Amino acid sequence: MQRLAGKVALVTGGARGIGLAIARRFAREGAAAVILADLDEAEAARVAPENPAFHPCPLDVTQDVDWARAVDRTVARHGGLDVLVNNAGIAVVGSIESVTLEEWHRVQAVNVDGTFLGCRHAVRAMKPPAGRGGAIINLSSVSGLVGGHNLAAYNASKGAVRLLTKSVALHCARQKYGVRCNSIHPGFTETDMLRDLAAGSRYTPEALSERLRASVPLGRNAAAEEIAGLAAYLASDEAGFVTGAEMVIDGGVTAQ
Ligand code: NAD
Repeated sequence: MQRLAGKVALVTGGARGIGLAIARRFAREGAAAVILADLDEAEAARVAPENPAFHPCPLDVTQDVDWARAVDRTVARHGGLDVLVNNAGIAVVGSIESVTLEEWHRVQAVNVDGTFLGCRHAVRAMKPPAGRGGAIINLSSVSGLVGGHNLAAYNASKGAVRLLTKSVALHCARQKYGVRCNSIHPGFTETDMLRDLAAGSRYTPEALSERLRASVPLGRNAAAEEIAGLAAYLASDEAGFVTGAEMVIDGGVTAQ
């Protein structure tokens, strides 16, 4: 079933990891265009040729001018914007005592400012009369629901994404824009981010992955494709009555 037939989607951080898995899934579901918007222009350009629906686009989510250009260009070239996935995010290992103010600001800039700007520009493009409604999906985390060790800045940023999502959802519902906004809260997912986190810890990537796996009731970490499946559902008309929701996909971690 092609649940996204003809839709135009923009995925931030679409060059790798969960973002790329979402882009691939959206293309399989029939999306007409999937914009791979990433700070890493070279990687986005490298993976784009694998699917005719993919279009690389340079974007630093912390920059308002980048967002204006990316969204305006998407609407001009592809006739509109139906789905935005605010997926780009970074994590820094550090407790309240060890994280620096510079690290704190960097995490909030990418994870919170980036999501805020993305929502703002998407609502502008999606709302009637120029727009045709749409779906916004924000990547939060289990770290936006419960605290984690040495994740002070990341926890704070993902908690902010959770409630920003609900605020955007309620505003769009009250304004009758036809725009839904939901957050996804993945548990540990096997991507380069886990490897980057390991680099900031005393564990090797394999040891960290194993350690995280041990705390998951289902006994394994998530695959990026599993997060992509949930994103495809939220982007589709099947989720027409779902807005302001926090969708947990964590193998049971937060059920404990
Ligand atoms: P990743 O590190 O593998 O990929 C992140 C992508 O975002 C990269 O392509 C990177 O170039 C891009 N990016 C970083 N800063 C950017 C910026 N300023 N502007 C534009 N692009 C930028 O990460 P991932 O594991 O795929 O995570 C994707 C999202 O899912 C993040 O928001 C992350 O916090 C969230 N998440 C990940 C996990 C996990 O275990 N991997 C768990 C829960 C939530």
